[in-house]
Amino acid sequence: MATAGFATELVNTAPGVWHGEDQLAHTASLVAFLADHGIDGAEDRDLAPVHDLRDRLRAVLDSRDPDAIERGASALVARGVGAIGLEPDERGRLQWIARPRADADLTDRLALLGGVGVLGALRTLGPERFRDCASDTCSGVFIDTSRPGRRRYCMPDLCGNRANVAAYRARKKASGGIS
Ligand SMILES: [Zn+2]
Repeated sequence: MATAGFATELVNTAPGVWHGEDQLAHTASLVAFLADHGIDGAEDRDLAPVHDLRDRLRAVLDSRDPDAIERGASALVARGVGAIGLEPDERGRLQWIARPRADADLTDRLALLGGVGVLGALRTLGPERFRDCASDTCSGVFIDTSRPGRRRYCMPDLCGNRANVAAYRARKKASGGIS
C-alpha cells in the first residue's frame, strides 16, 4: 500500500496541514519530497502542475463517496497510464503493474502513482478508511492503511503529539496568527 502513502503524503504537503506552510513551495523541496519516494527528475516547470495535481488528489480524498473516489482516481490513472501488465515482485509473486505512457511527463506519472494508490486502498480497505486528521490545528487527510484501522492523525508522530501541537499553537500566537 506504499502508493496510498504517496497520495496522502503529497496531499499533506499543502498549506494548512500540520505546520501550516506549503511544504512544496520551491523546486528544491519538490525534488527532496520525490527523492523520498524514489522519483527523480523534477524541474522548475513541474512545480505548478504538481500543485494542481495535489489539489485534485485532495478533492478525491475529500469526496468520501466511493463512486466519486473511484471516478476521480480513475481520471488520474488515465492521465498517465500506458500499459498494464503482470510482473513478478521481489518474492516472485505476480503483481499488476501500471506503467506510464512513454510521453507521460512527471506530473502524469505522479497522477498515475497517486490514482493507483487511491483505487487500491478504496477497493481493499473501503471508503471509511479515508479520514480527516483528528488534530484541530491540522487540515490534513489520510487513508488509514493500518491493520487495526484506528489511525486518527495524518502524521501520527506530529499531529498526534500533544506537546508538538501545544508548541505549534504557542508559535502561532506569538507570530500574531489567527487559529
Ligand atoms: Zn494532521
